[in-house]
Amino acid sequence: MKAIENGDQPLKDIGEWDDFVARDVYPEPKKRAKEDYRNYDDPARDCVREFYRQHHEHQSYEFVLGKEKEWLPMRRKKMTVLEALEFLNTLVDDSDPDIDLDQMQHLLQTSEAIRADGHEDWFVLTGFLHDLGKVLCLFGEPQWAVVGDTHPVGCRFSDRIVYSEFFKANADYHDPRYNTQLGVYEQGCGLRNVKMSWGHDEYMFHILKDYLPEPALYMVRYHSFYAWHRENEYDYLCDDHDRDMLFWVRKFNPYDLYTKCPELPNWDKLRSYYETLIKKYLPDELTF
Ligand code: FE
Ligand code: FE
Repeated sequence: MKAIENGDQPLKDIGEWDDFVARDVYPEPKKRAKEDYRNYDDPARDCVREFYRQHHEHQSYEFVLGKEKEWLPMRRKKMTVLEALEFLNTLVDDSDPDIDLDQMQHLLQTSEAIRADGHEDWFVLTGFLHDLGKVLCLFGEPQWAVVGDTHPVGCRFSDRIVYSEFFKANADYHDPRYNTQLGVYEQGCGLRNVKMSWGHDEYMFHILKDYLPEPALYMVRYHSFYAWHRENEYDYLCDDHDRDMLFWVRKFNPYDLYTKCPELPNWDKLRSYYETLIKKYLPDELTF
């Protein structure tokens, strides 16, 4: 089976995970998932399942502390936003044609849909930047340390997380420091004090945290925290500020999941708009 042969890169490309979430786990309102995602007769589903198996096994509290130490000093590479986008786009050059859009198109479609709905420019920019942290893949990180649903580590895993049965292989599942409801946290401590599983969301939040308004930062940091924004889990870790910001995270999610324009946005025509927008909020270079 391909998934097993591919070692720690079971997905053909990382967009396969996003597609799985949008199509099979949280389909658009009024559309229903074709089948239960646990049905694993389908080879593409095997890859996603294998991806989650690895993700849930490895994303432990210790693992996250290690990744923060490794990545948060941000000393790998300086890039302008457009250089980072070009770099990110090298990820999918060899993907097969029906795994639809490259990363750049996903970002543009998300931001253009936000713009078409008349939202403020920082919201548009957030759509345009939200997945840039996926460059971690190009720095050699395994897929399960870049994409996938995010969730708190250091306390009990919610059984509403996709494929939660795989957490049984996670060291924290058996560790009494980390497997109670609160684990290392205090009730209502606020998500900013909670360690999230490591991936492109948390990474990108740290890159952008000095530049974008608070709702934008929540969108970036928690957009893959489906257990929270879709399943209403982990409220006991939240404070009132998190609950206020949840509104924005939820507002963002449909643009991320369901925007597929029949007509692809034309980058050449849009480029100068985005260059101006980037300049308004961000320094010339970001440090990755
Ligand atoms: Fe994302
Ligand atoms: Fe996205």
